[in-house]
Amino acid sequence: MEPVDVIVVGAGLAGLRAAQVLNANGRSVLVLERAPVIGGRLASVTVDGYVLDEGFQLVNPAYPELVATGVGGDTDLRPFPAIVRYVDHDTERILTLADPRASWRDALGSREVSRLDLARFAGLSLRAAVEPVSAIRRRRDESTRAALARYGLSTGFVEEIVRPFLRGALLDDELETSWRYTQLLLRSFVRGRPGTYPTGVAALPAALAARLGDTTFRLGEAATAIDATSVTTSRETYRARRVIVATDASSARELVGVPPVRWRAQTTWWLATPRLEDGAVLRLVRGAGQLASALDVSAVAPERARPGHSLVAAAATGVAEDTSDTSVRETIARLYGLSVADVEVVATSAVSRALVEAPAPLSLSRPSVWGDVVLAGDYLQTPSIQGALVSGRRAAEAVLHRAVIGSVSRD
Ligand SMILES: Cc1cc2nc3c(=O)[nH]c(=O)nc-3n(C[C@H](O)[C@H](O)[C@H](O)COP(=O)(O)OP(=O)(O)OC[C@H]3O[C@@H](n4cnc5c(N)ncnc54)[C@H](O)[C@@H]3O)c2cc1C
Repeated sequence: MEPVDVIVVGAGLAGLRAAQVLNANGRSVLVLERAPVIGGRLASVTVDGYVLDEGFQLVNPAYPELVATGVGGDTDLRPFPAIVRYVDHDTERILTLADPRASWRDALGSREVSRLDLARFAGLSLRAAVEPVSAIRRRRDESTRAALARYGLSTGFVEEIVRPFLRGALLDDELETSWRYTQLLLRSFVRGRPGTYPTGVAALPAALAARLGDTTFRLGEAATAIDATSVTTSRETYRARRVIVATDASSARELVGVPPVRWRAQTTWWLATPRLEDGAVLRLVRGAGQLASALDVSAVAPERARPGHSLVAAAATGVAEDTSDTSVRETIARLYGLSVADVEVVATSAVSRALVEAPAPLSLSRPSVWGDVVLAGDYLQTPSIQGALVSGRRAAEAVLHRAVIGSVSRD
């Protein structure tokens, strides 16, 4: 094959975004991907007429780097209302809270929740949404738990309200995650309503790939050796002027020796039920049960379920020790007022490497140049779609910058 300007190893969001920026600047790209499909951790599959994602995830249209890709209009993102319903696993007590823009009544909570705590949490979220990101980046970082205590939120509110709310996004039961990152997350929650696609989360990398210009894909080819200007796979050695390693952190460690990371895991049960009313509200489970949350994704995307049915994603942090479907089906039946016989498990997905831990202090400006190669991947930014996309753009910029200053020239 003709040499290209840049080889990108890995066709997750980071690699695709790098290819997009390089193409936009006139560079040819070869993407080598180990899996038979593009998308990395954004993977979807159809089982028995239900569209399932490889782990439960939502896409926030307010992620700035997603907006920068320009693909938002190419996809059919269906947002959920900003209302959450807390259900106590043991007592079955229910509490509904909402963004005031969705429901004023639910925004005020009930007597169970202190108005002062609610006002403080709303204030923190609003500040994160309106202040410049540079201000968030500049302030000293600490754990999310420490920050919430420092801002005067009561322990009960943090345990009963904030922790169940954040753990779905952070997969962190202890709230050890960087407050800097949590603020960026709260910012995107205030600015955009997360949603899902009728064809599953894989619609996003597919839309990005469809926009690429001078990019060639080689799928099902794992890189086994990498240096500054070549990549060897099981089939061939490819050459280029620069190489970007856009794999997940653990693969990058194996390939080019980046520092080790620790992973957070998630288990998702995909459940078919009779058509649900009121399914679009996110259910958060408090108390002893293993499930953290449940959401009827077909409430906004009925294409994802068989006609007359709903598709519920029920998620737990970690790789569940007890994957017996019975307890999960019982919990879902109680959450939606069904009989257990009405709840059927379509598939279970346990992702042990879902998100890289992001403890404080979290640096958002880790260098993307590593020895002779350039790195991309969410582990260099934040463990999210936004983080992966930013890392891809920054890797492309590092390549382009080197080209400009002369170490690599196009002709
Ligand atoms: C269960 C789960 C839930 C999530 N929930 C959310 C959420 O709600 N919101 C959110 O913003 N983010 C969420 N995320 C995080 C988000 O999906 C990731 O941050 C993002 O997809 C990472 O993209 P990436 O390109 O950095 O890495 P990856 O997607 O891991 O891509 C790396 C690619 O490199 C390939 N590769 C690895 N080794 C080689 C090799 N040797 N040769 C060739 N190719 C190789 C892999 O096959 C893969 O395709 C979730 C992730 C998971 C798994």
